[in-house]
Amino acid sequence: MGQNKSQRQLAFVIDLNKCIGCQGCTVACKKSWTSAKGMDAVYWMNVETMPGRGYPRDWTTMGGGFKGGQLAAGREPTAEEYGIPFEFDYSGRLFAGKPDRGRPRSSPSWAPNWEEDQGAGSYPNNHFFYLPRMCNHCTDPACVAACDTGAIRKRPEDGLVMLDTDRCKGARACVAACPYAKMFFDSTAHKANKCHGCFPRIEEGVAPSCVAQCTGRAMHVGFLDDPTSSVHRLAVVWKVALPLYDTFGTGPNVFYVPPFFGPTLEESNGKATAEPKIPDRYLENLFGPDVRAALAVLRAERSKRQQGQSSDLMALLIGRNARDLLGHLQPHPSR
Ligand code: SF4
Ligand code: SF4
Repeated sequence: MGQNKSQRQLAFVIDLNKCIGCQGCTVACKKSWTSAKGMDAVYWMNVETMPGRGYPRDWTTMGGGFKGGQLAAGREPTAEEYGIPFEFDYSGRLFAGKPDRGRPRSSPSWAPNWEEDQGAGSYPNNHFFYLPRMCNHCTDPACVAACDTGAIRKRPEDGLVMLDTDRCKGARACVAACPYAKMFFDSTAHKANKCHGCFPRIEEGVAPSCVAQCTGRAMHVGFLDDPTSSVHRLAVVWKVALPLYDTFGTGPNVFYVPPFFGPTLEESNGKATAEPKIPDRYLENLFGPDVRAALAVLRAERSKRQQGQSSDLMALLIGRNARDLLGHLQPHPSR
């Protein structure tokens, strides 16, 4: 651990209260970077419904990361766990009278986003939220530690974790080592494949595609040590944005504002209680024990606004000016 340290770290904050699961980020990323042959099942950015099994299916059980300072055993997801790509019967859908109109040509049993909007619990106390996931551009990347050829490195200038495909020998050790299942394998090129943080945009001073396209203004980007960036203010100052499964030991640099906004549990007579539908203990499993303090701060600041007082934190999260979410970056390339 500890190799490839960067001087600065570009980081992301995703506000789970504002993500509407539109998959705009997923599509922006897919169209930009992984639409080539051999990458049908590869989603550098994906949005999962939680509680759920995620993409690839049950990725949290596949190991990887670090334990006691050493690489922990992990395994590569199977093609079926990613989801075997399939085509819909578009002509059947468009031209009425066909008995199988609209159905997939094959009979898939799993795919990315298979469990969309299912969540957990039963009516009226069922609940779900969306969890966008991408490479965490980790401070101690397990993918880097697992690579024998030095094909993966952490850029000193911004901490993005980059893969040099010319040096990659296709051994796939990195795929098994990433505990977030965000290192992929391009079966056509026979090389590893991963999110590069939209570095061509970053180098032009432009925000990554997923952030720029975010319909819900749920995504923030910026340098973690830039006191003017919303990323710094949410993760470092207010401490309301937390890493996902920090216990994997890689030091993720994607932080999440936990869901704190939403309906409360109902009693059998329909009366609302004060208890949130998404249990705090479930959020603690994802974001660690600090989530309790973060939720307390978020709820207290929301309460201030509800009483007509001002709240810098709520203003920051609302993000009326989209530019305020992008740190030093611009939303679009200048022409
Ligand atoms: Fe590497 Fe996985 Fe961390 Fe990305 S999330 S830097 S692929 S260990
Ligand atoms: Fe959520 Fe934004 Fe992605 Fe839509 S584009 S799914 S709102 S993170």
